[in-house]
Amino acid sequence: MSQATLHTPTVRTTCPYCAVQCTFDLHLERGLPVKVTPTKDCPVAHGTVCKKGLAALNDLRHPERLTTPLLRKGGELTPVGWDEALAYVRDALGSLPPERIGVFGSGSLTNEKTYLLGKFARVALRTPHIDYNGRYCMASASAALNRTVGYDRGLGFPADDLIRSDLLLLVGANVAETLPPLMQYLKGIKDRGGTIYAIDPRATTTSKVAGRHLAPRPGTDGILALGLLHLMKQWGRIRPTAPAHGMAQVLAHADDYHPARVAHDCGLTEEDIFTLGRAYAESRTPLILTGRGPEQHTQGTDTVQAWLNLAFLTGHFGKVGGGYAPLTGQGNGQGGREHGQKNDQLPGARSLRDHRHRAEIAALWNVPAEALPQPGHSAQELLNACGQPGEGGLDALIVIGSNPVVSAAGAGQVTQNLKALRHLIVIDFLPSETAQIATLVLPGSMWCEEDGTTTNLEGRVQRRRRAVTPPGAAREDWRILCDLAAALGRPHGFTYPDFRALQDEFFRATRGGKADYSGLSADRLDRASAQWPVTSAAGPDTPHVYAPPFLTPDGLATLHVPQLRAPTLAPRALHLTTGRLGNQYQSGTQTRRNPALKAEQTVQIHPDTAREHGLNAGDLVTLRTAHGQATAPVALTPGLRRDTVFISFHWPDSANLLTDPHALDPHSRMPGFKTTPVTLHPAHLTLPLPTRPSLSPVS
Ligand code: SF4
Repeated sequence: MSQATLHTPTVRTTCPYCAVQCTFDLHLERGLPVKVTPTKDCPVAHGTVCKKGLAALNDLRHPERLTTPLLRKGGELTPVGWDEALAYVRDALGSLPPERIGVFGSGSLTNEKTYLLGKFARVALRTPHIDYNGRYCMASASAALNRTVGYDRGLGFPADDLIRSDLLLLVGANVAETLPPLMQYLKGIKDRGGTIYAIDPRATTTSKVAGRHLAPRPGTDGILALGLLHLMKQWGRIRPTAPAHGMAQVLAHADDYHPARVAHDCGLTEEDIFTLGRAYAESRTPLILTGRGPEQHTQGTDTVQAWLNLAFLTGHFGKVGGGYAPLTGQGNGQGGREHGQKNDQLPGARSLRDHRHRAEIAALWNVPAEALPQPGHSAQELLNACGQPGEGGLDALIVIGSNPVVSAAGAGQVTQNLKALRHLIVIDFLPSETAQIATLVLPGSMWCEEDGTTTNLEGRVQRRRRAVTPPGAAREDWRILCDLAAALGRPHGFTYPDFRALQDEFFRATRGGKADYSGLSADRLDRASAQWPVTSAAGPDTPHVYAPPFLTPDGLATLHVPQLRAPTLAPRALHLTTGRLGNQYQSGTQTRRNPALKAEQTVQIHPDTAREHGLNAGDLVTLRTAHGQATAPVALTPGLRRDTVFISFHWPDSANLLTDPHALDPHSRMPGFKTTPVTLHPAHLTLPLPTRPSLSPVS
């Protein structure tokens, strides 16, 4: 491997986008990275790469790149120096009660920034209100795993184990578009004679490769799992993975989910249920992988729980090649949910509610344990509280690496809330839609301008290495957080002499936590990546984690009875489901600006449904829900269910104008991105869209 310094022609680092975290060599010319080469020793991608990764450098010196702080003056964002920007922070935040300030982070932040952001919120700002956009991604799967086995490490095994499955159920996981390098594993399974089902309301590239496709109604994946458990019980296939709490209740509950009921609720045939059930019963190593399809619901935790229960009760959970696991989405979606930017969490996947955990971290941070705030608002609740008077409301918000104006549920309402704040401070490197309405924008660092670590979808920690310094007056994000602490007069604990000092503190902070990285160092990671826990410098890493005894008080798992109901629709309403496109990423701040990643927003509708509504391909259609309306051209999509409409969420003033900002999963606090009742209207017959007031351009 090349030496990773600023002066060598190549630098080994990781992709800024999805949770595969492909490793790249960046080739430098005259000090700037100019080319990406995938590396054959990447533990997941094995030298493959997708177009997003190959094009990732295009944004590096984008004309809109933020290179100086911008302060809103006279309604316009105006370039200012750092001294003036930090004086604004001092005056703005220093005069507010801590509980009136919120922090909104990101699953794209490195582990070190995740750690520092949580520390900054709780020690420098002293606010309880910090959460992040990963709440919109993995939260339901994470909640189900945590309450069942006490921890969540995504796959829980090396990706190379995937091909040892003889039956793969991809539940709401369109990996061909969202995690393309995983397609080589699907091929591997089929080459070995295995079977793959794609369970998705849309036919996708993934379902074509899988060869077997079931298209249940959106919001009914968990009921399908209950139907399978019902059959496994009837057929004598219950062989629990290990003793566990709650098994009898879960099995009794499954008695109600006979194939006729499940077929009706899911919009499938009884034969579909029996065929899938037989395949599962006969498989030696059935593996269930969930994506955002079953997770991004207001009953997402219980939906995942239903699949997890099935894997556990049939003896496959934790088995090599089999079991259950979620597929993480965001680049550092795994590490981002472990190290303290969640509202109830401390580093190392510790709980802010646990007295021992609080004491451990308080000692490291040299503050009294009682000074650490209690858990605050979760992500959507935090955004809903912005600009609200009275108890629980927020007057100021710091956003880093996230764009809730596009990505939050009920984006129209959220945008109004953010505009009602007295202070909206955004740290970013491109003028996202959220940055454009900020009162202060601080220019931060891009992926190849910073050191750190990320944790991929298999819980593997890898180094991200700096190849170039940020342009102009832009600063590395970790330095900005330290600068903010100093501006607030609370520099103690934020005076790291260099990045390595912060990184070493981060690794130390995880010692004794469930997500223990304390045996890691940059030097060790230069030799090899490692899957956590890694508890000592000389000790091994842990490729497989989902095995008893589990990280629960008595070492036993606890299965929970899923409380699921099939969604109902009013006459003429359809199911609106939102999702991703292959060459876009999240809110599109980077990828919509990237000329190599052309894409356009459309509304995917089955041709029969379009005909019933008087719509043809390319016609503008207005989608209306109880929460808003949005208009886009029709794309006729024969592979979609007739009762379902699909729209991607990468564009502003679009998909998330239609989603509900208030209904949340009771366990994961996830909004319902995947099922919203919607009606279709030819745009020429509808009233004009209520437009957002125009956004002030970034100077
Ligand atoms: S987006 Fe994901 S699959 Fe594509 S190059 Fe980046 S890490 Fe790899």
